[in-house]
Amino acid sequence: MNDQHALYPATLLLHSGIDRTPHGETSEAMFLTSGFVYDDAEQAEATFLGQATHYQYSRFGNPTVAAFEARLAALEGAEACRATATGMAAVSSALLSHLRHGDRIVASRALFGSCHWIVSQLLPRYGIESVFVDGGDLDAWAEALSVPTACVLLETPSNPMLDIVDLRAVCDMAHRAGAVVVVDNVFATPLLQQPLQFGADVVVYSCTKHIDGQGRVLGGAVLGTKAWIETTLQPFLRNTGPAMSPFNAWVLSKGLETLTLRVDAMTRNAHAVADMLAASPGIARVWYPARADHPQHRLAMRQMSAGGTLVTFAVEGGKADAFRMMNALELVAISNNLGDSRSMVTHPATTTHMKIGPEERAALGITDGVIRLSVGLEDVRDLLRDLRRGLDALADRGQRRAAE
Ligand SMILES: *Cc1c(COP(=O)(O)O)cnc(C)c1O
Repeated sequence: MNDQHALYPATLLLHSGIDRTPHGETSEAMFLTSGFVYDDAEQAEATFLGQATHYQYSRFGNPTVAAFEARLAALEGAEACRATATGMAAVSSALLSHLRHGDRIVASRALFGSCHWIVSQLLPRYGIESVFVDGGDLDAWAEALSVPTACVLLETPSNPMLDIVDLRAVCDMAHRAGAVVVVDNVFATPLLQQPLQFGADVVVYSCTKHIDGQGRVLGGAVLGTKAWIETTLQPFLRNTGPAMSPFNAWVLSKGLETLTLRVDAMTRNAHAVADMLAASPGIARVWYPARADHPQHRLAMRQMSAGGTLVTFAVEGGKADAFRMMNALELVAISNNLGDSRSMVTHPATTTHMKIGPEERAALGITDGVIRLSVGLEDVRDLLRDLRRGLDALADRGQRRAAE
């Protein structure tokens, strides 16, 4: 237990981040408190001088939140972690705490919608130059990073097309340009890909996704070196206030305990679903990083230990056919969420990626036939049967078309 990195993830997630009270409870205590009291005025003074370690106020730190942070940091192999209210609070705090007027940020184009908005709309308002590149194009990265840059933001695999960015190559170029590399690792989860091992400086999560994984709470996390977290991020969090609620931290700590089981089972299901869809008439194309027909399969498997829980596919035809297939599903829910224990489908062109417009969608390969499937924990036989029901709805249409 002294060398926690010697433990495997499943064990680490049960035995790290435990700060038992004198009552000796088995499950983590929940400290639903906004503030803390001091033994005497001297202790309060020493705490504010930074000479004594004592919780002050839950906007700055809370024992339940700290236990969650310790557990996630142990899994990621990061020196430090700070939890935030949402994934977007994690992304925006990581960027805004680091960047200043006159700085430059380079980002991969295929970003989660709100991350794209922060880079393209918000940061330029504060005099920060933002540049987008095609994440799979190393020449484009090299050109964009040929001038001094403060920050790189990327997502791999990306949402929804599961494009892969070469972490090692981009981190090396970014560091030569003086940039800190921030990786949004939501799709891979900390189990299947650890960006810090490839040179990334900061990893961000929406804990709302796999870490909760059961559709209950919102949450986010930022992980990095102790020095960066304490000197750059923490003053920003402390004074702007995107703190995670201790209740949510408790729920997320319990989520981490079953993360390996859930992600392993969801990934197995996803691979089976991807294989079935790829072999089905009516499906034009399937994207799944662990399949040899993914355009960046070899790169994906250098960085990820498995293909993950998301499968993206395109039906033959357009929006009407995609909607027909989605509407025929009885088990798989229509939702814009992902990483949940229940399977969910999304039509990105009309929901999550509607606002970016047709040109940007075309640049990202998001056609009207594309469906993103977040694969859950259902028995795979039931999932496959439900998807066949969707495929049958496509086939009915094909037969009607042929008869017309
Ligand atoms: C969901 C998500 C976010 C935002 O997280 P919230 O918890 O919804 O704020 C950021 N990045 C990616 C890749 C996501 O999937």
